[in-house]
Amino acid sequence: MKTLSQWVFNNTFLTLPEGFGTPVSPQPLTQPFLISVNPQVCRTLDLDPKSAKHPDFINIFTGNDQLAGFAPFAMKYTGHQFGQYNPDLGDGRGLLMGEVINNAGEKWDIHLKGSGITPYSRMGDGRAVLRSCIREYLASAAMHGLGIATTHALAVLSSDTPVYREDVERGSTLVRVTESHLRFGHFEYLFYTGQHDKIATLADYLITHHFPDLAKLDSQNRYQAMFKLIVTRTAHMIADWQAVGFAHGVMNTDNMSVLGLTLDYGPFGFLDDYEPGYICNHSDYTGRYAFNRQPSIALWNLSALGYALSSLIDKQQIETVLDTYEPTLQAAYNINMQRKLGLDAPSVTDAQLYEELFALLASQHVDYTLFFRTLSHIAQPDIPQSASQFRTLFSQLPPLEHWLKHYAQRLTLQTSSDEQRRNIMLNNNPKYILRNYLAQQAIEKAEHGDVSMINDLLIALSTPFDEQPHFESLAAMPPAWGKKIIISCSS
Ligand code: AMP
Ligand code: MG
Ligand code: MG
Repeated sequence: MKTLSQWVFNNTFLTLPEGFGTPVSPQPLTQPFLISVNPQVCRTLDLDPKSAKHPDFINIFTGNDQLAGFAPFAMKYTGHQFGQYNPDLGDGRGLLMGEVINNAGEKWDIHLKGSGITPYSRMGDGRAVLRSCIREYLASAAMHGLGIATTHALAVLSSDTPVYREDVERGSTLVRVTESHLRFGHFEYLFYTGQHDKIATLADYLITHHFPDLAKLDSQNRYQAMFKLIVTRTAHMIADWQAVGFAHGVMNTDNMSVLGLTLDYGPFGFLDDYEPGYICNHSDYTGRYAFNRQPSIALWNLSALGYALSSLIDKQQIETVLDTYEPTLQAAYNINMQRKLGLDAPSVTDAQLYEELFALLASQHVDYTLFFRTLSHIAQPDIPQSASQFRTLFSQLPPLEHWLKHYAQRLTLQTSSDEQRRNIMLNNNPKYILRNYLAQQAIEKAEHGDVSMINDLLIALSTPFDEQPHFESLAAMPPAWGKKIIISCSS
């Protein structure tokens, strides 16, 4: 275990030529204090969690002190927001502080969100408020616990610095930790500003540090293989989002990671009731980023990236790679669904079984997570008669009984034991997800000085497939008010 001052750095992004961003120092927050630190992320960075209580940690991650080794830098990127190209994006309220090499030799970006104004802040104040930092902090932990590719969050800190949104709020910071902050928008920036030589520079940087297996390929194949990896990883990420019921809310190309990581948690939401057209972002008037549109939006975003790579990869190769997106997504999603229903091998009738189930869940506004978790506990012989066990989830049981009969029939094709089926289901249908109302309660408590619920959620969400009797209340059906929370876009 190390203290912050023992961290070893290799700030590789700064070895790129000029034009990828601007060095900027964080602006201090006043009277800073720690809200929460994630011990799991500490371990990744070989950091003793106790050191987070130390004033040095608090001062460093609120812009009040400098850590030797940090070289804070605002990255420049652009991107398509709601389908429109915006040339004025970049790290407007966050900084890449440095890249830590841990004992295992892995390189981790340390990014400070809420660190103040940069040349890319436009009209913004460069700040982040406590509620949005807590939401990203908990969501990153939840997604990681679920086994979904995501950025991580080491800690949330807050302060007395006033930040003006609809109300006056506390200026806060989130310490984001991830393999890389490279976004689709980094490539779009270089393309739309005509810096074509730098596109190859950035692609080579990405390959060297993140896709080293591709480095041995010649330039004709290397970049196509790089794009293929980005497409594949994105397809897997989307398949995981759709299976767990996660809506990102702001799938702009500047929020898309080239490593296929869930990035930039804004007005995201996990489904409570199954509602395919669920829109979690209240500024998304057309539903561009509705839950069921995420698969096609990801393809739109990948096409935008492909276009930005068109000086590097020929058009036909780009098309060929883009054509692999849908089958990759579909195959990954099918595997996820098979696991959710405990099926040991695919069958031609499965698509219909899923379709009927989704229509049923949508028609009765059934809680998505609780449905699958409840089903995971029921033994095969009991399934056709088990509708009453779902009484709190369904208003009408006959359509459910009908589907359960199909499911029971489908299970007669299984070659594995029923215990194996239930085990697979229990390991793939979470008991704990970060419901909106839970995040909201944790935020309200923290705003009144009580961080205990944040820390409870952190533990419960880190092993979401395990029964945790102590945290039973965090797995309950959401109250009616809890489904109607409007998440403000200001953050
Ligand atoms: P987002 O919607 O969070 O992906 O942010 C889009 C762009 O706005 C990015 O370039 C952000 O850095 C910038 N931005 C968001 N909030 C602020 C803020 N409070 N101050 C400055 N820039 C911001
Ligand atoms: Mg963003
Ligand atoms: Mg954001």
